[in-house]
Amino acid sequence: MKAWGKLNEFLNGNIILNWNTLTKCCLVMILGALIYTLWISWYLFVFSIPALQQWMNEELYYSHLSMSVVILCLFLVFAFISWKFNHYKWVQDYFPYIAILYFASTLIYGGFNVGIISPATMGGYISLISVGVVLFDRKIIYSAAIPVTLFMLITIVLSSLKQIPYAPLFSEKLNSSNLSENPFWVYSMFILYFPIFIFSIVLFEILLTQWRNREAQIKNMSLLDPLTNIFNRRSLAQHLHCIQRERKSYALILLDLDYFKNINDNYGHDVGDLVLTKVAKILDLHLNEQDMAGRFGGEEFLLILQNKTQEQAIQIAEQCREGIEQEPILLDLQHKLHVTASFGVALSEQNKTKEMVLRQADQALYFAKKQGRNQVRCYAEIDEVNDLNLDV
Ligand code: GH3
Ligand code: MG
Ligand code: MG
Repeated sequence: MKAWGKLNEFLNGNIILNWNTLTKCCLVMILGALIYTLWISWYLFVFSIPALQQWMNEELYYSHLSMSVVILCLFLVFAFISWKFNHYKWVQDYFPYIAILYFASTLIYGGFNVGIISPATMGGYISLISVGVVLFDRKIIYSAAIPVTLFMLITIVLSSLKQIPYAPLFSEKLNSSNLSENPFWVYSMFILYFPIFIFSIVLFEILLTQWRNREAQIKNMSLLDPLTNIFNRRSLAQHLHCIQRERKSYALILLDLDYFKNINDNYGHDVGDLVLTKVAKILDLHLNEQDMAGRFGGEEFLLILQNKTQEQAIQIAEQCREGIEQEPILLDLQHKLHVTASFGVALSEQNKTKEMVLRQADQALYFAKKQGRNQVRCYAEIDEVNDLNLDV
């Protein structure tokens, strides 16, 4: 579990996708060197086993081996250039094109030698173009992929017309046999494609993990208020919409901090922000799982409670009010600040839209402000006061 966590942390970190182009080039050059090291090892191994030599073209042995060693060395030189000289402008501008074209040409050279339409060549071609498009600017990839594709098409045509040999690295005996029934050929295909396959899988895993995480982060950002980290107005609206669609009963508590402007004016905006964050935490503490607290705007918060009677909603609002009033906000070791808030409560009813309930909660809040602040008032009370023709 711990190792899995560490691996996840690594995959989520600032790796590969966020690297600059030259660092990615360096990675690709090292990959090229690894691929060629494996291919050279395979080649040496095959020639060290007499029983396997019959499947290889002996005439090409030394020339192909020396060519592969030169290619390998050049990969290392290119990796060094992209690592060491990455501050030069011309290296930044042109080297990625050269390096990627080199990578593509050397791989297709290898592919041509073992069969241009063999599974290893085709698998490598598709995997590396997909990986390349993810990693690099498309211009860089297409300027290598287009000539390589043309080369592939031309060699396919020429070898079908018998103008050039097909899979020259293999012996005539192998090329004329039933390839898929030849274990040497099947294992060779597997070994030749293996490093490309592993690299592609690892890279796509990294890409997918980072992509999923970014998506989760963006989703969180769209739902939460960045200052207080509780739900924002959009989430509140969505939640209300869902509750009303499911025809559940609910209560709304709208609260507004008292004389908040004075806090900003006297202590500064930062202290104002601190107060908002603290109040959000207090509200969150007083709610259970199915209820929701969010920042409605400025220094106003909205609580959405499900399946509550008016008494229960008033009781929760009272607890929040007391919580805010009693929790001092420490400015520093000597100074602490006390804030209060006024609350308006309204309940849903059949035939009342959510906008109507919200307006009623707002009216109840206005009533609480008018009555002297730091108190909870309910919309039903205003109705009663209106019935008595009192001024509110
Ligand atoms: P009342 O008791 O009548 O509600 O008085 P009040 O001072 O709280 O009301 P008013 O609407 O005049 O002031 C609200 C203030 O809230 C004004 C605005 O600068 C401040 N405010 C709004 N959003 C933020 C914020 O994100 N951070 C800070 N620090 N202040 C904010
Ligand atoms: Mg206020
Ligand atoms: Mg206000």
